[in-house]
Amino acid sequence: MTIAAPVKTQYEAVIGLETHCQLSTATKIFCNCSTAFGAEPNQNVCPVCMGMPGVLPVLNQKVLEYAVKAGLALNAEIAKFSKFDRKQYFYPDLPKNYQISQYDLPIAEHGWLEIELVDEAGNPTRKRIGITRLHMEEDAGKLVHAGSDRLSGSTYSLVDFNRTGVPLVEIVSEPDIRSGQEAAEYAQELRRILRYLNVSDGNMQEGSLRCDVNISVRPVGQEKFGTKVEIKNMNSFSAIQKAIEHEIDRQIEALETGEPIVQETRLWEEGSQRTISMRSKEGSSDYRYFPEPDLAPLEVSPAQLKEWKSQLPELPAEKRHRYENELGLSAYDARVLTDERSLAEYFETVVAAKASPKQAANWVMGDISAYLNAEKLQVGQIALKANGLAELIGLIEDGTISGKIAKEILPELLTQGGSAKELIESKGLVQISDTAELEKIIDEVIAASPKELEQYRSGKTKLLGFFVGQVMKKTNGRADPKLTNQILAPKLNNG
Ligand SMILES: [Zn+2]
Repeated sequence: MTIAAPVKTQYEAVIGLETHCQLSTATKIFCNCSTAFGAEPNQNVCPVCMGMPGVLPVLNQKVLEYAVKAGLALNAEIAKFSKFDRKQYFYPDLPKNYQISQYDLPIAEHGWLEIELVDEAGNPTRKRIGITRLHMEEDAGKLVHAGSDRLSGSTYSLVDFNRTGVPLVEIVSEPDIRSGQEAAEYAQELRRILRYLNVSDGNMQEGSLRCDVNISVRPVGQEKFGTKVEIKNMNSFSAIQKAIEHEIDRQIEALETGEPIVQETRLWEEGSQRTISMRSKEGSSDYRYFPEPDLAPLEVSPAQLKEWKSQLPELPAEKRHRYENELGLSAYDARVLTDERSLAEYFETVVAAKASPKQAANWVMGDISAYLNAEKLQVGQIALKANGLAELIGLIEDGTISGKIAKEILPELLTQGGSAKELIESKGLVQISDTAELEKIIDEVIAASPKELEQYRSGKTKLLGFFVGQVMKKTNGRADPKLTNQILAPKLNNG
């Protein structure tokens, strides 16, 4: 008799992200104060962003433009009619005691973005993640928990209103994400898109991009969602992934042991690599939203929409597909090259100047990127322009110089620019591809090493490498390696 093992329940996670993203306008959303990061506390403030009585907000038109462009890039429908609302809550960093946000008529809805995961074998899997909505709002200030008063012993906090009124878009995804890896990739793709548009710098360390995760777990096949938990306080993509993986395990364990899962907000603790409970979650009815009476509703004209649409660049996903399908690059190479718009455009200029895409990709992803990382530079800051790199690649491909020589002169080109061709001519580095000239050198090398020649001929054929090395040494690396082998081998063998 056999006893069937108990069937282990399979679970799936249902994950959605709410991302707050600071728009990179020079001034705040409803006043002319600067949005610059790092100013002394309370320097970038005025009666409007301090919420003084009797002042009126005026919408910064750049904020609307950036929000609409982000909505278009996320394949969303732009609202013909939209408005601002007051979200009421009390917090010391919120001088008006309400935040101007958008509630039931956001500027954009029903979009999607495509994430791409590449496995170890280099095969890409693509998936669309729905975007529920994108809306504009103002940021709150910042509390600095300063410590305790020496005399009274009571603790106190300071508030910095520089950030109050800085423009944000909040982008809410559909619960289409199933793993920590997908969530991290979604956040990265979102950041890439916003950076391509130049509407945000997406700097997580400075708080320009902040992600909150909603996550629940349910048995596979179950229609109904499990109890949703929100996680905050992740300031890197890897933290998003790790926090979700930890939370999935925690919720599955709770379900298995019959422990209740509470609807709450949890914080990711980087130090202990776990989530901890922070508070129970408010519903939207707690905020008492109502239409903002001081701002006119928004209507984007078809002509305006058309103009903004025409200004959108080619986006990262389109670039990835084109690099794979038209330039024949691997999914991996296409991802690396398109991560930053400036690097992708540099690469494209190299290819447009007739360099082979594969060679161009190898140079840009290899030596050029290594140099940029080491020197902390952007590609636009180096002296080697795209045409110069194309010229260098052309010189390797037509046999004028070896790859080795190209790498030797690269540092000089990177820092001083100029023509690769002129540089190798002035340094006398042109490859020796003349058969007669090379034969003469090879004969000299063989004549100078009788002992090695004898060993070679008695079967130690590995010494071929020694002779090639001698030829390279004699020519300062300028001998055409292929031709050298072609001439050298028969001479060694036949004597
Ligand atoms: Zn202000």
